[in-house]
Formats: sequence, structure tokens, C-alpha cells
Amino acid sequence: MSVLVIADVVDDVVLPATFSTLVAARQIASFTSARVDLLLAGHQLYASIPVAASAGADKVLVADSEHLADRGAENLAATILLLVQSGYTHILFSTSNFGKNVAPRVAAKLDVAQFSDVVAVRSESVYDRPMYAGNVIATVEALDRLKVITVRSTAFQPATAEHAAVAVEQCVVTQDLKRSEVTGRQAAVSDRPDLASASIIVSGGRGLGSKENYERILEPLADKLGAALGASRAAVDAGFAPNERQVGQTGKVVAPEIYVAVGLSGAIQHLAGMRDSRIIVAINSDKDAPIFGVANYGLVADLFDAVPEWLAATE
Ligand code: FAD
Repeated sequence: MSVLVIADVVDDVVLPATFSTLVAARQIASFTSARVDLLLAGHQLYASIPVAASAGADKVLVADSEHLADRGAENLAATILLLVQSGYTHILFSTSNFGKNVAPRVAAKLDVAQFSDVVAVRSESVYDRPMYAGNVIATVEALDRLKVITVRSTAFQPATAEHAAVAVEQCVVTQDLKRSEVTGRQAAVSDRPDLASASIIVSGGRGLGSKENYERILEPLADKLGAALGASRAAVDAGFAPNERQVGQTGKVVAPEIYVAVGLSGAIQHLAGMRDSRIIVAINSDKDAPIFGVANYGLVADLFDAVPEWLAATE
């Protein structure tokens, strides 16, 4: 038995979610003494190879080809399907946009079930996963011979210790299927920490009232705290913040050290994306707002007074 982890790699950088997925893979492998291999797929992979080699896998497989550069599901799935013929029992992805794009295609082509957003491993075939926006944790058993899994990275903390470098092998890449092509990519450029991996997040909701207020009130606070900026879906839908800042069931799932929720109610769909934060601070004028049900520190106040006062107090 062996477990295959598909690395989340962008522009020759291995994303942190890969290391968490490896932790989950190790847990699965521990039940059967299985090997854990890491597939690094992309194009012109140089810097990512030594990082992958020391990430905690037993072996690194490199699939480097021009048509894998855009991480498209069709070409990547074809290469993975070729690889799994050599006897893998589990294929793991992170629950990132990348994993959510490729894993379903792999599972469908193999005609097996996909286990999404796994948060705990109970045995090599039994896992916990959230349902109903995190209100229910279901324990599910995978009965297929080959198990396709996406892993919630915030549920598996990667070890900080360095791993010894392992063997790196090139693997066979299937031909370009020419089914799809990425014609452009717009990446949001920001000096702020990345929302998915930030240790502090300041997040705003509809209570801010406008894009101008979102920027005027939250940005100085985020600057002061060295925080990433997040938003509720209502704030995103109203145009206060760009889409990539949405936290929640249909946005990003985060688990920072500190999550500051400003003028957002704490709807279950929002909580689904941030309830695992270590410390939650909420500022809301409604003492009955659900966010106070999960907050470690709650301030019932008008945000337009409270946030400037907080900033002034730290001068
Ligand atoms: P509101 O619920 O309107 O809350 C605004 C809050 O601001 C209120 O609590 C109010 O008391 C407070 N407030 C107002 N003025 C002030 C002031 N001056 N000072 C202090 N406080 C003030 N939502 C997400 O966030 N993320 C998701 O991923 C997500 N996915 C969804 C998926 C589905 C299928 C569905 C149906 C919904 C989803 N939603 C999601 C939407 C969710 O249900 C809520 O509608 C949304 O989270 C509400 O955003 P909000 O808290 O900013 O707004």
C-alpha cells in the first residue's frame, strides 16, 4: 500500500497546504505502514524540488512539462491516473481551489467516491469531515479500493522539524490533451500576509456600510496588527472587499491565532470558515449577534467608535 499526495505548487513554490496534507497522509499511512509519495507537477520546477524533498514524504515524484504549467485538471488528472496504476491506495489533495478542481476529476475517472475536506483520520479508511457548514462532523468510511481525499489544511498542523531529504524521481507525463488552456491569470498583489496562512486576520462585515468605511476603518487596524484582511460574504457581495477575501463556507477556511470580526453577525456559513481560530475577538453593536457565541473577547459597541479608540490606545 502506498499513499500519494499531490503537492499544491504555484510558480515553483510549494504552498503550505501541501505540508498539512502530508501530515494527514502520514496518519493514514501509519495504520498500514504504507509509503507516502509526493507528486510535484508543474513546469520549470527548480526551487520547489529541494523543498518537496524535505517535506516529510518517502519519495518525491516530479512531473515537469509545459502543459502542466497552468495546473489544469484535465492534463494533471491524466498524469495522476497513469501514476496510480503503480499501486497507490490513497490519493490526497489539499482542500484548496487546486485540490477542489483536480480531485473530483480523478475520482470520477476512477469511478470512486471522493472524501472532501477531511479534518481527522481515524483509520486508513475512516475519516471525519464537516457537513452542514461545520455544524455536524460526520465520520465516514471509504469502501473503495482507491480512496480520493481532500484535506482541510487547518486541521493538520505540519511539524516544524526539518525532515531529511529523500529521493527525487522524474515520472512519466501524459501528452497534452489540449482540452483547456488558461489564457490569462489575474493575481491580487498585496503587501499583506496571505489570508490562508496569516496568524492574525481582521475581518469586516456588512456593518461597515461601504467600501470606503471597510478600507478607512479596517486597513489601519490590519496595518497595526500585521494582519491579513478578510470579509463576510455580505461585505464581498456589497463590493466592500474583493472576492478572494471572503471567509466562510463558500470562501476561505482559516484558523489564525487571532481573528478579529468587525461588524459581522457570525452567520453559520461565516463561522464555518473561521471557528477554529485560536482567539476570536468580536466587535458588534448587537449584543445578541451570534458571533459572540464563539468569541473569546466580545465588545458590544459601535465599530466606528471602537476601532479608532483601539488604534488610539495603541499609539
Ligand atoms: P449581517 O448578517 O447583516 O451582519 C452585520 C452585523 O453588523 C450585524 O450583526 C450588526 O449588528 C453589525 N453592525 C451593524 N452596524 C454596526 C456598527 N456600527 N458597529 C458594530 N456592529 C455593527 N457568509 C460568509 O460570510 N461566508 C461564506 O462563505 C458564506 N457562504 C454562504 C453559503 C450559502 C449557501 C449561504 C446560503 C450563505 C452564505 N453566507 C456566507 C452568507 C451568510 O448566511 C450571511 O448572510 C453573511 O455571513 C452575513 O454577513 P454579515 O455578517 O457581514 O452581515
